[in-house]
Amino acid sequence: MIQPLRGTKDILPNEILIWQYFYKTVHEILSIANYNEIRTPIIENTELFLRSIGNDTDIINKEMYTFKDQGERNITLRPEGTASIVRALIHNKLYSTSNISRLWYFGPMFRYERPQQGRQRQFHQLGIECIGIQNPAADVEVIRLAIKILDSLNFNQYKLEINSIGNIKERKIYTEKLISYLNKYKEELDEDSRNRLKTNPLRILDSKNNTTQKILVDAPKLKSCLESESLEHFYKICEHLKYLEIPYKINEKLVRGLDYYNYTAFEIKSNKLSNQNTICGGGRYDKLIEQLGGPCIPSVGWAIGIERLLLIIEDSIIIKEKKIYAYIALQGNFAREKIWKIIKVLEINKINYELDLSENSLKKQLKRANLMKVNICFILRENEIKNNQIIIKWLETGKQNEIELEKLEKYILEVKNLIIT
Ligand code: ATP
Ligand code: MG
Repeated sequence: MIQPLRGTKDILPNEILIWQYFYKTVHEILSIANYNEIRTPIIENTELFLRSIGNDTDIINKEMYTFKDQGERNITLRPEGTASIVRALIHNKLYSTSNISRLWYFGPMFRYERPQQGRQRQFHQLGIECIGIQNPAADVEVIRLAIKILDSLNFNQYKLEINSIGNIKERKIYTEKLISYLNKYKEELDEDSRNRLKTNPLRILDSKNNTTQKILVDAPKLKSCLESESLEHFYKICEHLKYLEIPYKINEKLVRGLDYYNYTAFEIKSNKLSNQNTICGGGRYDKLIEQLGGPCIPSVGWAIGIERLLLIIEDSIIIKEKKIYAYIALQGNFAREKIWKIIKVLEINKINYELDLSENSLKKQLKRANLMKVNICFILRENEIKNNQIIIKWLETGKQNEIELEKLEKYILEVKNLIIT
C-alpha cells in the first residue's frame, strides 16, 4: 500500500466542513475591508525565495522543497506566500492601476520540517498584504483584521506581541553592537547561536536556549539603535491598538524568521498550545518589492497557520452537518428514465438528495434511506411507472402513497417545508 508522504495530511469530508466555514468567514471579513483574493502558482523559480527570504533563515537553510524540472529549471514549492504575491504584483503591474493593493491568499505551503503537532510539511496559510501604504494605520489595519478573524471564530485566548526592528541602517548598527557583546560570551552560546554570530546575528535574540537567553539579558537593546522615525512609527501603532482596546505586549526580542521585514514585526500566540503556539506572524516589508525588481512600494502583511488555528478552535465551533433530505430508490430498468425528472425538481427546490445506484433490493435501499435519516423517499417501481406514477414514502410515519408523475412538481412544492427539516 502506498503511504501518504510524511508531514502531509488528507483533509477528509467531515473535516473539510470547518475549513469551508473558515474560508467563508474570512472571505466575508476581508471583502468588507476591500481585500481581494489572489491565487498564485504553488511552484515558483527557486531564485524568488533565495532573493527574498534571506540567507541563514530556517526556510532557506533547510526547509525548501527544491527540484529540477524536465527542462533543468530550479523550481521550489512555495514555503510562504508573500514572495509569490510580490512577484505577481510586479509581473502583472498591479500597482499601475491603483496606488494601493489589498490582497489575500489561502493555500498550501511546503516546508521540509520535522512533522509534529501543528507542524506539517504541507500546511496551509491564510495571508493578507496591504501594499502601497507606509502609514502606521496600515499596520494597524492588518493587525486588527487578524484579531477580527480570530474573534469571529470565537477564539480569544491569544496574545499579540509586537516589536519594531527598525530599518536596514539601524539594524546594521545594532547587529554590530550585538556581535561585539556576544563575542565576549562566544564559548557559552549554544551552537546554533554561535553559528548565527556570523550569518544572522539578529536571530540569536529568539533562541530557545536558556544559557543564551541569560547572556542576552544584559545585551544591548535593539530599541536603543532606533531613530525617531522608526520609533514614531512604532508608537503610533501602539496608540492605535490602545484606542482599539486590542491588548498587546511589546517583545523586544521578536525578530521573526524572514529577513525582509522592517519596522513592525508581530506575532499572535495562543495561550492554549505550549509548542507550536504561534498562530499568526507578520510585519512590514518596505524594501521587498524593490529588492525583487519592482518599484519602491511600502507594504505590510501577515500569515496565519490554518492547521494550528483549527487545532485550537475545532472544539469551540459547532458546524451543522450537511443533511440529506430525500432518497430516490429504484427498481427495474424502466424506472431509470424517470429519475432525472425527479432530480430536476429536487434541484430546483434545493432539496439535498441521494440517488440509489446500487441495484439492491428495494428493502435494502429503504434500509439505507432509514440509516441516512432522510425525511422522504421517492420509490420508482416498474409497476407504478407503467401508470405514470411513483410511490412517496415518509420515513418517520411510514405513510406511503402513489402520486401521478405530472403532479410531482406541485406536490414537492407543497410539502417542501416538511422535506427540509
Ligand atoms: P515557527 O517558528 O513555528 O516555525 P515560522 O516563523 O516559521 O513559525 P511563519 O513563516 O511566520 O512561521 O509562518 C506563519 C505561520 O504559519 C506560523 O505562525 C504558523 O502558524 C504557520 N506555520 C509555519 N510553518 C508551519 C508548519 N510547518 N506547519 C504548520 N504550520 C506552520
Ligand atoms: Mg519555521
